[in-house]
Amino acid sequence: MADFKRAGSNLSSCPPVEKWDDWVEYDSEAWPRRVARRYQLIPTICFNCESACGLLAYVDKETGKVAKFEGNPMHPASRGRVCAKGPAVINQIHDPDRVLYPMKRIGPRGGGQWARTSWDEVLATFGSRIRKALQEGRGEEIMYHVGRPGYDLIMERTLQAWGIDGHNSHTNICSSSARFGYVLWHHADRPSPDHANARFILLLSAHLESGHYFNPHAQRIIDGKMAGAKLAVMDPRLSNTASMADYWMPTYPGTEAAVLLAMAKVILDENRFDKTFMKNWTNWEEADFDGFTAKGQTFEAFIEALKRHYAKYTPEFAENESGVKAGTIVKVAREIAAAGSRFASHLWRGSASGNLGGWQPVRALVLLHVLTGSVGTEGGHSLNAWNKFVPRPFKVPPPQQRWNELLYPPEWPLCTHEMSMLLPHLIKEGCGRLEAYFSRVFNPVWTYPDGFSWIEVLRDEKLVGLHAALTPTWSETAWYADYVLPMGYSSERHDLMSQETHASKWIGFRQPVLRVFQEKQGEKFDYTYQANPGEVWEEDEFWINLSWAIDPDGSMGIRQWFESPYRPGHKITVDEYYGWIFENSVPGLPDAAKKENLSPLAYMRKYGAYEVTTDVYKLNEKPLSSAELDGAKVEPNGLITRQGKPVGVMCNEKAVVGYNTPSRKLEIFSKTLVEWKWPEFALPEYYRSHVDRAAQAASLGIATSNIDRKYMPVVEWPKGANGEVFTLLPIFRLPTLIHTRTGNAKLLFEIAHKNPLWVNPIDAEKLGRIRTGDLLKVHTEIGFFVLHAWITEGIAPGVVACSHHLGRWRVNKDDHIERFSSAWVDLKEVAKGQWKMRQITGVEPYDSSDPDTRRVWWSDAGVHQDITFPVHPDPLSGMHCWHQVVRVERAGEDDRYGDIFVDTNLSHAVYQRWKALARPASGSGTLRRPLWFPRVARPVETAYYFRS
Ligand code: SF4
Repeated sequence: MADFKRAGSNLSSCPPVEKWDDWVEYDSEAWPRRVARRYQLIPTICFNCESACGLLAYVDKETGKVAKFEGNPMHPASRGRVCAKGPAVINQIHDPDRVLYPMKRIGPRGGGQWARTSWDEVLATFGSRIRKALQEGRGEEIMYHVGRPGYDLIMERTLQAWGIDGHNSHTNICSSSARFGYVLWHHADRPSPDHANARFILLLSAHLESGHYFNPHAQRIIDGKMAGAKLAVMDPRLSNTASMADYWMPTYPGTEAAVLLAMAKVILDENRFDKTFMKNWTNWEEADFDGFTAKGQTFEAFIEALKRHYAKYTPEFAENESGVKAGTIVKVAREIAAAGSRFASHLWRGSASGNLGGWQPVRALVLLHVLTGSVGTEGGHSLNAWNKFVPRPFKVPPPQQRWNELLYPPEWPLCTHEMSMLLPHLIKEGCGRLEAYFSRVFNPVWTYPDGFSWIEVLRDEKLVGLHAALTPTWSETAWYADYVLPMGYSSERHDLMSQETHASKWIGFRQPVLRVFQEKQGEKFDYTYQANPGEVWEEDEFWINLSWAIDPDGSMGIRQWFESPYRPGHKITVDEYYGWIFENSVPGLPDAAKKENLSPLAYMRKYGAYEVTTDVYKLNEKPLSSAELDGAKVEPNGLITRQGKPVGVMCNEKAVVGYNTPSRKLEIFSKTLVEWKWPEFALPEYYRSHVDRAAQAASLGIATSNIDRKYMPVVEWPKGANGEVFTLLPIFRLPTLIHTRTGNAKLLFEIAHKNPLWVNPIDAEKLGRIRTGDLLKVHTEIGFFVLHAWITEGIAPGVVACSHHLGRWRVNKDDHIERFSSAWVDLKEVAKGQWKMRQITGVEPYDSSDPDTRRVWWSDAGVHQDITFPVHPDPLSGMHCWHQVVRVERAGEDDRYGDIFVDTNLSHAVYQRWKALARPASGSGTLRRPLWFPRVARPVETAYYFRS
């Protein structure tokens, strides 16, 4: 038996593993009678956010149905604990509105007429269309576009097996800017803070209650606090997280880098930085700025130059920019310096995702880690690559030969991920079309900015030939598909997941619990949809079968990647796919399984997770192996290269692996930015965001010297946009909801179903004595939305905020688009590109197989703000900069709650203004993108060059 304490759980209420096959609980609904229920407990992984927490499904042995979900105590990251969204999976799997069978459009696209079809017909249709496109050399017209991935590697492998550059993701409306900042420093695009062992924790977000890996992180932030760590939170909004902090620093949006650089200046000026770490592990010798060239100079001279460079970022300057008191900035800087190598931080969305140049705070934040030597240390900042484990499958297809400019256009050569939010604009401009488009757990019409531009493209069959929405539920986007293909929830599919949640590497196994349960009773299934509700399929089997449908006789070279490693020439099963990985690619797992007389697959089915290693600190100091050194040479600057590529670095006369950057060091000075036309940002800097007060003033025609049009786009107001100018923060999460993913979890919507506009009392006065509940009209650059005010001191003056989780809608009263959470709307295109939406009713009780749908007592569905935002592509990271300069006024007599108006002609014009800020790759014969930058589904190296 595995050690119950192995996962660090000390919960006494979790059933012990040895009782999972027959766990007895009394039926709470039968009270006061004592009715025993017997359960089979089967582990799986939550699919509601990216944290990948472990769940235990309680399958009632009498009914064969899942009765509830709780935490899996054997999961190394979540340790038996879950947030509200974990147990709410029970609502999702029993949602009477969910999609249970593959559906095919029978009327005009977007017309809402559907008929049930078969999986065989789906496979035949897509198989033949994709085969034809591939045979005609139109691979770029096939695109897979993912919202919530919830897996590792399998789709990149599938698309590369098809030989296409067709992977699109939602990342550039999510985290591209943060990733860009981290990549520039150390190649790894995500941070992995060791909160539990930290002495000081700085969060630039509401991370304790929501956000990236927040449940696993929240536990460890509290562990750290219980052990004496202090917590600082930088956020213009008084979140629950900020309310738990020792220091709340409500920065004006977009000024965070100024505050962080002021802290860096304090640490530098007071000589409280870790000289040895900086000297050994930054590329300071490559620095060339302000007339200072480090080559041939001493480290001390470099530090003096750095001090001179950062002299402008005084705490007083930062106070003036941000509103945070200079004294607080100095105090926090000293606390960080005192924590030294035990300084942890987190910055993922928030300021990074909201602002033009949102990657600058990340550069500045990692500078604090570099100064304190807290990179890769116990209690410090680590790299996702050091704490995440992605095993290799049995056979890896070669990288694709082509480069798809619909994904990585030349204007944004440094973009961290695909420029996904520009897809409608690129298609409208004639950059390409789509023959087969798979939107997968993805709802861009609702989740993305500028959703009406998505509708305009998705409804046009000349632009999008065939669209399949792979989704567990109906959605605003699925409405414009040709096929709606039901995919499974957390307990209805296989996936491997690992995340950089803490100082460990682990792997989790999601599994279809009803199939596993029935197989334990001796049933046999060919496919998971035979065991799932309706014909809900899991994607692994769908993609395997689709690949066979594209290449039925293997002549295209595709089928080989989906043949069994155990039974040559036969179609691989999911048991074989994961069984091979567990047997061959997860160090230690076969031995752990053997100790229990289990196969590695059976071990993972039993426990649902496995901890690979906790030896994860300072991996940059790992010595290069003799195989890695074979044929390598040491350059005069200590860089170790092999076949011209850096593979390591000399440090204290040892050949070590270093970081995966060109210098193999932490790049305080980015030669990449110099070479790619952004020399002014080679060092971590601060420049003003598009929502800066200067931008606000300029939008009203007030001259200001704080604006540099090289960086800051013009804000132009549409006709009729009146009222006071504010910065709108539209991206904060509510702890119980997650985008459209939780729209059909009735218990979660009972808890939270409003997204009013947060307004400071000072601003409420300015707006004409606005009170909570009054209707406000918020004008964006392309339209407006109308919602209620919430007057609160929890938001800084000059800033308004609205959570982005609410405002779902459906165009027909009885459409099954998540009726717990959606309003019935009248949607009209009143003129070309001019869209009007008005709510007819809010949420109402309705009849269904679930009696609770008649008990719905709330009527508010919230207001869909995102659809009124234009795209704002950051010129470097490519991130959509979510924050908005808006005008707010009291709603007029004709305005009603939930009203929306958008002009997509204006949104295209805003896109063009932002595109003009970009600095495109040079073209013909030159590189499209730095070769060392990570890229999803990386093509061959030759594809990185423009054709001459
Ligand atoms: S944090 Fe909550 S929603 Fe996210 S995976 Fe964990 S339990 Fe699920």
